[in-house]
Formats: sequence, C-alpha cells, structure tokens
Amino acid sequence: MDILQPKYDVAIVGGGLAGLACAIRLRKGGNSVVLFEKEAFPFHRVCGEYISMESWDFLKQLGVPLDSMNLPKIDTLQLTAPKGTSFTTPLPLGGFGISRYTLDALLAAKAKEWGVHLLEETKVEEVVFNGDHTVSFTTKGGGRQEVNAMVCCAAWGKRSNLDVKWNRSFLSRQDKRLQNFVGIKYHLKADWPASTIGLHNFKDGYCGISRIEEGKYCLCYMVKADELKSRQGDIKRLEREVLSGNPHLKKLLAESGVLEGFPVTISQINFSPKTLVENHVLMIGDAAGMITPLCGNGMSIALHTGKIASDKIHHFLAGKTDRDTMERDYAREWKGQFAARLRRGRWLQWFFGSTGLSNAFVGAFKRFPFLASPVIRSTHGNLF
Ligand SMILES: Cc1cc2nc3c(=O)[nH]c(=O)nc-3n(C[C@H](O)[C@H](O)[C@H](O)COP(=O)(O)OP(=O)(O)OC[C@H]3O[C@@H](n4cnc5c(N)ncnc54)[C@H](O)[C@@H]3O)c2cc1C
Repeated sequence: MDILQPKYDVAIVGGGLAGLACAIRLRKGGNSVVLFEKEAFPFHRVCGEYISMESWDFLKQLGVPLDSMNLPKIDTLQLTAPKGTSFTTPLPLGGFGISRYTLDALLAAKAKEWGVHLLEETKVEEVVFNGDHTVSFTTKGGGRQEVNAMVCCAAWGKRSNLDVKWNRSFLSRQDKRLQNFVGIKYHLKADWPASTIGLHNFKDGYCGISRIEEGKYCLCYMVKADELKSRQGDIKRLEREVLSGNPHLKKLLAESGVLEGFPVTISQINFSPKTLVENHVLMIGDAAGMITPLCGNGMSIALHTGKIASDKIHHFLAGKTDRDTMERDYAREWKGQFAARLRRGRWLQWFFGSTGLSNAFVGAFKRFPFLASPVIRSTHGNLF
C-alpha cells in the first residue's frame, strides 16, 4: 500500500457512485481525500443498470465520456402484471444503460487521476469521532491501520458491517413489507427492444430488463427472501416456480443466453428510513436511504447526494460554516430533495409487493394511461 498522509481533509467509506462522486468533487475543489473500498475495481454489483437522464450531465462533469460511449438510450417503459397484463408508456425523462462494472471503474480511474487516495481491498472496521475522525481499517494483506480526517462520509451502501456495529435504527424497524429482500442479476444476450425497459411483476417481487453497453442486457430482480429460502436457495427453481408465473418473464428466461460470471446476488435489502448524520459522519447514497428499485433512480440519487455532501463539506473546510451547520444543512437539503421521493417509492413497493394489487395497478394504467406519467414523475428529480 502506498504511503498514507497522517491526516486527510475527508475520509470516504465506500467506492460506489455516491462515494466516488463525492471524492472526485472534493478533490477537484482542492481538498485531500482518502477513499476506502473493500472490493477491487472493476467488479459486478447487483443493480438494474438503468440510469435516469437526471445524471447525464453530472457524470460528464465528473469525467465520464458518455457522449462517445455509444450507450443505449431508453425512452419507453413496458410494465407487466403477474398474470401477464401489459402496459407500455413513454418515459417522461428517460434514461440510458451502462453496467456498474464499467461505470464504477471509470469513476474510480477518474478519482485516482484527480489525486484521490483510493485504497481498494481495504475494509473499514470502525470510525470514531473525537474532534476529528479516526478511521480504522483492514488492509489487503490483513494488517490493521488507522488514519485521521476532519470529515467522514459513509458511502457504504445498503447495509455494511458498520451499520451493524453502530446498531443503526433502520435495522430494528418492524415493517416486514420493506425488509428482507434478495437481489439477483444477470448479464444476457436477449431479444428485447433496445430503447425499452421492462418491469415485470411476479409474486413477491419484480424484474427489470434493459440494454447496457456492447449489445448486452441486464436482467435484475428483487424478491422476498422467504421465496428463495423456502426453495433451499435454489435460484433456478425460484425462477421456474415463481418468476415464470408471469408469461413475459417465462419467455425471457427461457430464450435468453446468460453470460459467464452470472448471476451475482445480494441479500438483506431493506427500504426503511435511515438517519442522515450519525457520529458526525454524513451518510450519502444508499447509506442515507434507499429508494425502491422499481423507481429506477437509486443511482441518480446516490450521485446527487454525493454532490450535495461535497458542497457542504467544501464550505466547512473553507471555514465558511461550522460542523453543526454543515451537518444540519446537509440533512435539510437531503430531506428537501429526496424524502418525498423515497416515501413515494415505498408506497409503490407496497402495491407491487402484492400480486392482487399489482395486477390491479397495471390494469388501471391500461385503462387510464394518463395516470402513468405523473406517477413516474413523482419518484424522479430534475437534472442536477
Ligand atoms: C435489485 C436492485 C436493482 C436496482 N436497479 C437500479 C436501477 O436500475 N437504476 C438505479 O438507478 N438504481 C438501481 N438500484 C439502486 C442502486 O443500485 C443504488 O441506489 C446505488 O448503487 C447506491 O450507490 P451507493 O454508492 O450508495 O452504494 P453502492 O453502490 O452499494 O456502494 C457501496 C460501496 O461501499 C463498499 N463498502 C461497504 N462497506 C464497506 C467498508 N466497511 N469498507 C470499505 N468499503 C465498504 C461496498 O463494497 C460498495 O462498493 C437497484 C438496487 C437493487 C437492490
């Protein structure tokens, strides 16, 4: 591992979109930044890989050459109900497809180019605040080290070792409808229209399919963990017995060619509300709260939170605000931008979590198509 500075302006835990965006912006603003990521780039993560257009300009500002990447633009949504009813509608803002394998690695390379001290295969074990933050971490070789930073951001995603260690309140919330899902993702060769995202509902879950780079498709679904558990973790059986209840999914699963290295899976997905600042650490991305994936804009929210946090931190480090004000301003802006969107996402999740309601919902859209656009818009933001 290359030599660490004795102290950084900012330490960021987690190299997903929120952490990388925040790190790049702070470094561009002249702050010293250390970023910890427990994996090594590039790597696959569970994600539907459809990014709302909200993020297009912001990603270009971070240095991702989107204009020259020939990425698929997605402007249509096909929504299907568990029994197969289908409804197709234009997407008000639309989006584009790119794998996390490619996007995260590009941003990680940009972060390094700008001079972010990026430590891969390095897992943070604890963050303690005593005026500054002391971050303890385990290195690639297994050694334990510490570093200090004036500000710390938690960009560690949906659920991490530190959430458990800090006993964060969202872990003990009781609403079963928002907890304990598993996510499963494939890259595929498929016969599916390049400009359409499919959102196929099935009993206790839903599955997205859309195109990414190089003519590949990403198929990603989320389902209640009990459905997989009751089939002894047998994914193929789950797909045969549960997902294939939707005729559109049955056809897709039967006719698509899975690419090597898939599926990738995650468990313990939880959509309960979270705290925004804890132990003086600013929570960004999914660590601050996760919008339900059927809204298709968790990545944009993660990037946007990284932007907001970097602005507030930059002001604090420049001596324009004190720590309390930085924390309060961050939480206030986060709530203003995202709280209502996440609430509406949870509300939609309840509908799509039930087979009957989900059939009724798609049926209602089919009969009253003008309802679709405001519902989709209500979970999305604007360019940032
Ligand atoms: C099934 C599913 C489908 C989805 N589909 C879409 C979609 O199509 N479009 C969309 O916009 N959003 C989608 N999302 C949401 C989107 O994936 C997330 O909102 C987004 O990835 C959040 O980014 P993040 O940076 O907060 O976290 P992540 O991308 O999860 O990054 C967190 C990082 O922190 C690292 N980390 C964790 N703990 C530590 C530690 N202790 N030390 C060091 N590193 C650590 C992890 O390894 C990870 O790399 C989906 C989510 C799910 C579950």
